[in-house]
Amino acid sequence: MLAFLLTLVLGLAGCAPASPPAGSQARSSTPAPAAASTPGASPSTQAPGAAGSCSGRPTPAETEGPYFKAGSPERTSLVDPGMPGTRVVVSGRVLTLDCRSVAGVILDFWQADASGAYDNAGYRLRGHLTTDGDGRYWLQTIVPGDYPGRTQHIHVKVEAPGRPVLTTQLYFPGSARNQQDPLFHPELLMEVVDAGDGKAAIFDFVLNFR
Ligand code: FE
Repeated sequence: MLAFLLTLVLGLAGCAPASPPAGSQARSSTPAPAAASTPGASPSTQAPGAAGSCSGRPTPAETEGPYFKAGSPERTSLVDPGMPGTRVVVSGRVLTLDCRSVAGVILDFWQADASGAYDNAGYRLRGHLTTDGDGRYWLQTIVPGDYPGRTQHIHVKVEAPGRPVLTTQLYFPGSARNQQDPLFHPELLMEVVDAGDGKAAIFDFVLNFR
């Protein structure tokens, strides 16, 4: 009985397991912000101290590199059937400098496959999605391989309506070649945990406006 009550209390206190968000999590102690009533980049109040807490510092920009290709398909999974590589769900929020979430932001991702190769002919491991009313995004993909001169990374362009595009890259903690890569930036490290037979990675983007 005691164990049951303890479980119930912990559950109500929001001790969330390290599983990828299913889009239905509500924080019991904090009223959920109302969905933006107008379309576009209407920031809404964000609870401070949430997972991947907001630094208030703008996410550093990085070079686009040679492999960006416009026109990626809209999708929340870059994984094709039978694709080799460790599955990873990358998720988080897009926030303003004062930690308000931004809806309607387009995130355009591209990355190498597990052996470090880009698809420059088609759109394999390329895709874009849009943040929801709470500024959240969710992408299913694989852990990219490294390639000559580069540690493991995922490229992304972040475009809030009416704002300049932020081009940057995300990195994996503990990757063997992080310290040898001149582009590696510790502020662009995702929070990565094991989840099932894959990984879950969290990163909150902070855009340079209020
Ligand atoms: Fe790259």
